[in-house]
Amino acid sequence: MQVAVLGAGTMGHGIAQVSAMAGHEVQLRDIDADIIAEGLDAIEANLTEGIDRGKVTETERSETMERLTGTTALAEAVAGADLVVEAVPEEMALKRETFRDVEGAVGPETVIATNTSSLSVTDLASTLEAPGRAVGLHFFNPPHIMALVEVVVAEQTSSETLAVAREFVDSIEKTAVEV
Ligand code: NAD
Repeated sequence: MQVAVLGAGTMGHGIAQVSAMAGHEVQLRDIDADIIAEGLDAIEANLTEGIDRGKVTETERSETMERLTGTTALAEAVAGADLVVEAVPEEMALKRETFRDVEGAVGPETVIATNTSSLSVTDLASTLEAPGRAVGLHFFNPPHIMALVEVVVAEQTSSETLAVAREFVDSIEKTAVEV
């Protein structure tokens, strides 16, 4: 899968890491290039710690890093993405704007997911022209350690979207809990 992660902060870089470790091509987008660089550095440090613990090989580290690309350009980040996961700050107006901007830049098949902890995914989905493509993918911190991902089914989430979300969670070897 091609995955775009929006926001390279605490959660975004971790979601990018677990996605790239699973073999997905990942675009990591933030509005701040320094935060992208820090996020990529943190991923490399996590992988190095994994090597020290005997859980990651050097080849896995280098292949994972090769699958990660950072960009500040939204259109570049989401171009060709099968799945977009937004992890921007927990503000409804910003998330609505992000959802709308993403929908304007992707094809009809792209699933648009939010990592929101507390906002209504149904409200957020309603900002889309095709709300059935919206779903919640709620990771726990830190994503590379925590085993669960809540798959938050909005009122509008289509069965196809839910299937893609579940397939993605399976692919990163996490346990999906549908809520
Ligand atoms: P954070 O502040 O660490 O990271 C947010 C990042 O988004 C920042 O780097 C910021 O520069 C960037 N950003 C702002 N506007 C942007 C835009 N338009 N496009 C791309 N990037 C943008 O926040 P966080 O803790 O990673 O939280 C992100 C989301 O994850 C929130 O919805 C939060 O509720 C959720 N969440 C957080 C935790 C946690 O433990 N921190 C756990 C689960 C879910």
